Amino acid sequence: GRWIEVDGLHKSYQPRRSEPTHALSDIAFTVRRGEFISVVGPSGCGKTTMLKILAGLIPRSEGAVRVAGRDVAGPLPEVGMVFQAATLLPWRTILQNVMVPVEVRKLDARVYRERAERLLAMVGLDGYEGKYPHELSGGMQQRAGICRALVHDPAVLLMDEPFGALDAMTREYMNVELLRIWRESGQTIVCVTHSIPEAVFLSDRVVVLSPRPGRIAEIVDIELERP
Ligand code: ADP
Ligand code: ADP
Repeated sequence: GRWIEVDGLHKSYQPRRSEPTHALSDIAFTVRRGEFISVVGPSGCGKTTMLKILAGLIPRSEGAVRVAGRDVAGPLPEVGMVFQAATLLPWRTILQNVMVPVEVRKLDARVYRERAERLLAMVGLDGYEGKYPHELSGGMQQRAGICRALVHDPAVLLMDEPFGALDAMTREYMNVELLRIWRESGQTIVCVTHSIPEAVFLSDRVVVLSPRPGRIAEIVDIELERP
């Protein structure tokens, strides 16, 4: 079925004492369960805004937004989010940071601890479970942030430039790992990226936005584009 439904979505930011910014206009698309879609477009076209609305972190101005069959009016428990820069809690170890979504949802820590350790090993962070964020490089912190978003196996995963801070080699490695995790889990993924090759490599479909205000320029079906 349709796992994400966006229809007639408009978003204006209305800062006090200044002109409103029309960030998104007339956005409509659907994502089927288990699909991987990417959202690309130039800086300022509203990619982050769209993801924050899907995540229930900011309100929309108009339109319908449904995720996992529910109207999005705030963060939903079945949604995980990877931000542009990992914001790990400095006073907690890497493993404790990865376990945050498990604690917040009051899930069985014994069950998910094993998954957390497996995910950390998958992204090359085995041996770092007991370290603190400041002991890791920025790229390593970002990888730990990705594990945190995946630990509770969310049905929907929203990612905002998840590999933006990584060097080219780690980035390619993470793309391959992400595909493996996705094929195993059957998650529905929406991934914002600046990189068109990355979007084509990763996704079933690519939503292309044009700026001022952000509108859908094109939705490209990658399966059809492949020779
Ligand atoms: P990117 O192009 O990589 O998405 P931006 O520099 O556009 O990054 O935005 C970074 C963050 O700053 C985003 O979370 C966005 O919501 C916020 N932001 C962008 N423009 C403004 C603005 N005019 N006023 C307040 N916050 C903004
Ligand atoms: P992108 O992620 O594609 O770079 P954003 O969603 O960050 O785009 O921003 C889309 C537009 O909305 C930009 O013009 C940006 O300046 C504006 N914007 C983003 N966040 C805010 C905010 N918190 N307040 C005011 N304007 C914002």
